[in-house]
Amino acid sequence: MRSWTATGRVVPAAAPLDRFTIEATVEQVALVAAVFFALSANGPFLSAAARGHAAAELGTWAYMLALVTALASLHFVLIALVANRWTLKPLLLLLATASALTAHFTARYGVHVDASMIRNVLQTDVAEASELLTWSVWTRLLLYVGVPLALLWRVRIVRRPALRAMGVRAIWMLAAALVGVAALWAVLQPFSSFIRNNREARHLITPGNVVWSLGTVLARDVRGAAKPRQAIGVDAKPGPSWAARHKPMLFVLVVGETARAANWGLSGYARLTTPQLAGLPVINFRDVSSCGTSTEVSLPCLFAPVGRRDYDRARIRDSEGLLHVVSRAGVAVHWRDNQSGCKGVCDGLPNETVKVDGAPTLCANGHCFDEALLHGLDARLAQAQGTQLLVLHQIGNHGPAYYRRYPASFAKFVPACENEDLHQCSRAEIVNAYDNALLYTDHVLAQLIRQLASHVDAVDSALLYVSDHGESLGESGLFLHGMPNAIAPDVQAKVPMVMWMSDGFRSHTGLSDGCLQARSARAASHDHVFHTVLGLLDVRTSLYESAFDLSAECRRDAPGSTRAPL
Ligand SMILES: [Zn+2]
Repeated sequence: MRSWTATGRVVPAAAPLDRFTIEATVEQVALVAAVFFALSANGPFLSAAARGHAAAELGTWAYMLALVTALASLHFVLIALVANRWTLKPLLLLLATASALTAHFTARYGVHVDASMIRNVLQTDVAEASELLTWSVWTRLLLYVGVPLALLWRVRIVRRPALRAMGVRAIWMLAAALVGVAALWAVLQPFSSFIRNNREARHLITPGNVVWSLGTVLARDVRGAAKPRQAIGVDAKPGPSWAARHKPMLFVLVVGETARAANWGLSGYARLTTPQLAGLPVINFRDVSSCGTSTEVSLPCLFAPVGRRDYDRARIRDSEGLLHVVSRAGVAVHWRDNQSGCKGVCDGLPNETVKVDGAPTLCANGHCFDEALLHGLDARLAQAQGTQLLVLHQIGNHGPAYYRRYPASFAKFVPACENEDLHQCSRAEIVNAYDNALLYTDHVLAQLIRQLASHVDAVDSALLYVSDHGESLGESGLFLHGMPNAIAPDVQAKVPMVMWMSDGFRSHTGLSDGCLQARSARAASHDHVFHTVLGLLDVRTSLYESAFDLSAECRRDAPGSTRAPL
């Protein structure tokens, strides 16, 4: 290589660094890139984190500085993990492009980059994609990819012996990780409160979100291709009572969220948090243990034939569940979600998320009150055929922003905590907000029962409501949930469970109400849900265990029932 000097004399390139080329190590370039990404592509994340913090306060700026530091550290470690002398520049080109596009679409359309968004992108065709590539996108790409890349091309990466390069890299990564952790540690209180209440905000961390989501999609595809969910209950078939049905049957399973038994009016709480249900002929199970203390554990467990009594997370995750089994017997299954999805238990089955535009009066800021789950139920009942299982997944008492879970008309217990940072409220205020949210769940369930009851001439119906886990509200200094089962307090592990059925459903299944009322006073758990639903729907399979069917001893036709036919 030769170059020209200012005097026009040709010199040999023995010293190849010209005045526009600089020499840098992989780590130095990665650090500059990480800081660049943290500052240029994370505006939406930082402004979400800053919400509720006064711009005039010095503490807010320290908080922002800590977050930028943590973002830079995170991205440095990501880059340093895979980059070397040859891969660094192509990698940064990809990351810069992904960052610029993500930042653009997030700012413009409020896009969150998660696995399903990545799937959307991967499945987008050229025509759709080209419609999105407007002039403003090209401008952004030029400024945030073209210019930095032009600079990067002037950098010559320092060459180092392999062993030494690995040693230096390890030290840099360790240092970056420590700086990142220290920065987060310094703002742990506001940051953890922010993340707890804005879990979705993690999808705004750019370009980490793209890398993570792409990795998730690839891992799922590889795992999914290698290992399909194991079929269970392959012998499931309708029981003999199906032939005798004169009317369609609708069973509604409501999966509650974070409702704890300790504050459930029907179970003896001092406050009337369930005034509407108290006026309806429901069966309230007073002593119900949840499978786990988090949605991730309890939800799949609720739909498994063997849950807590021989808990095996991998077996539950890799197998089909209740919905697949009843579906195999001919039950039409439908999952409606007002929360974070069905965690795999409705995979391959009809499911939908409550839509903001489906019930505009009940939805705001991207969230819907649980009554939106009932939207369209009358039409479903009017058109009902055969045997149906409808699952409604509530947002319920999801914290810490309990006050966001109910409309203003349910703010009966006041003053209620109206701050996501629970430490800013008194215990009484926190409990007030929590109880108001329960009061709203009482209303939603009662409304659901009234709707089912208004169609009993045409449809036999039944309801089973059960919460996924409880909640700590400051007892022993604990808040929220998720404690390991072994040490979880009862407030996190005891949940409300309520049953209702139409007269037609009761007489068809031969259920004795008094018998069920007696059963409801004894202990039960999430382990009972799978077998109770099988029993009530009369789905026959070798998986069924009458010992875990709450209705078994009270039903005329139950397999294994000791009751004489009525
Ligand atoms: Zn939950």
